[in-house]
Amino acid sequence: MTDPTPGRSADDVLRELDELRQDDLPTHGGRTLAYVYDSGVAEADELGRRALAMFGATNGLDPTAFPSLLRMESDLVATARDMFHGGPAMVGSVTSGGTESILLAVKTARDAHPEIADPVIVVPSTIHAAFHKACHYFGVERVSVPVDPSTFRADPSAIAVALDQHHGRVVLVAVSTPSYAHGVVDPVAEVAAITRPRGIRLHVDACIGGWVLPWADVAAPWDFAVEGVTSLSADLHKYAYAPKGVSLLLHADPSLRRDQFFASADWPGYTMLNATVQSTRSGGPLAAAWSVVRYFGDAGYARLVRSALDGTRELVEGVGRVDHLRVLAEPDSTLVAIATDGTCDVFTISDLMLERGWFVQPQMAFGDSPATVHVSLSAATAPAVPDFLAALAESVVEAVERGPVQVDEALRAAAEAIDPSTLDDAAFDGLLQVAGLAGEGGSIGLPEQMAPVNALLDVAPPRLREALLVAFLDRLSR
Ligand SMILES: *Cc1c(COP(=O)(O)O)cnc(C)c1O
Repeated sequence: MTDPTPGRSADDVLRELDELRQDDLPTHGGRTLAYVYDSGVAEADELGRRALAMFGATNGLDPTAFPSLLRMESDLVATARDMFHGGPAMVGSVTSGGTESILLAVKTARDAHPEIADPVIVVPSTIHAAFHKACHYFGVERVSVPVDPSTFRADPSAIAVALDQHHGRVVLVAVSTPSYAHGVVDPVAEVAAITRPRGIRLHVDACIGGWVLPWADVAAPWDFAVEGVTSLSADLHKYAYAPKGVSLLLHADPSLRRDQFFASADWPGYTMLNATVQSTRSGGPLAAAWSVVRYFGDAGYARLVRSALDGTRELVEGVGRVDHLRVLAEPDSTLVAIATDGTCDVFTISDLMLERGWFVQPQMAFGDSPATVHVSLSAATAPAVPDFLAALAESVVEAVERGPVQVDEALRAAAEAIDPSTLDDAAFDGLLQVAGLAGEGGSIGLPEQMAPVNALLDVAPPRLREALLVAFLDRLSR
């Protein structure tokens, strides 16, 4: 054996960590308009980090061993009960994120109906892809129904038709408040009026709106105030401005939650007893969320939401004044989808914005929804909206000069003809090179300009797009 690698000093390792962070998107400063949520309050960030560190080694596996965690979880659920108009019977669990909350909501609804051999969920086409993942993981069929083509809101009548078509098989309907892609709130009461008489569960995905809408002037009730809403997800690591790794899944009463839990005494170790997907789970994110929620309080969130919403309004108005751009749907919250008139493309605009220090997220065309630039406004971004709009206007002028990325006709035709299930590893290697996701000799890495890659992915059918990106991820992490 060779000599063991010596350990490094803590200072050296911290320096290495600093270096590693250099290429990451900034998490603070208000210029990263997806993935991160920034309150702009340094003291809250510091508090969250300290709580995360203090509880990083605690284990939520056994709440009797760490009663502090049970207490903090109960406190957060109690706060959420007030915010979301839950009744006295409402219960909830802290999970690791929106996806875990949604996975559990779907699994719980499925397991509540063991007599249904081929369960179905009915969702609007705009529902978050976490529901697709849940269906894939848990063997549930997903029936996606079209949304209203002018507002991008769920269409209750389309949901009613799907429920009748799949009568006796539907275990859950879900809607979004708001949807991620368009930022609009679905008509929860109208959908509940359809699900409730049929005895079908209704989940409200408030993952991104949960810590915004309670302080916004939303016209219609959308949470547990609506009779028939059986579960609701709300992420603390988004607009509660807590560090990553924490969300809430709430049920209207304990009977609706029962099938969420898992126990196994069928082995020689401890009886495994879990409320969530994880078993050993860090108390860090929970403690951090608890701390940040206490720190801001109702008044703090009211102020942060006001700021983010004012910024959103200013941004929507500003986009309206930029030639060649339009806001796709009037946002009900802090998310905005911006489309072009075809003289330029959103992929080029995204690249040009990044050159100017702003990260915006391109969204591909899907159904009636054209390709858009997605922007999630947070409190820290609001004061920078005038700068953002100036950078956006410059980027659009330049993008119009360049014109939209042209995808080679032969390539487009090939993309449409390929059946990804027939491709082997070598074929994927070749395709990744054609798509610009791999260099000569198969070296994997992202090009400086993402627009050509995104434009090609945009014309690829969704199945091929998925397969290509999975192949990319696989090679990236080999
Ligand atoms: C973010 C989000 C999710 C998924 O949450 P993760 O925390 O990324 O797992 C689900 N639904 C909506 C509407 C979201 O915005």
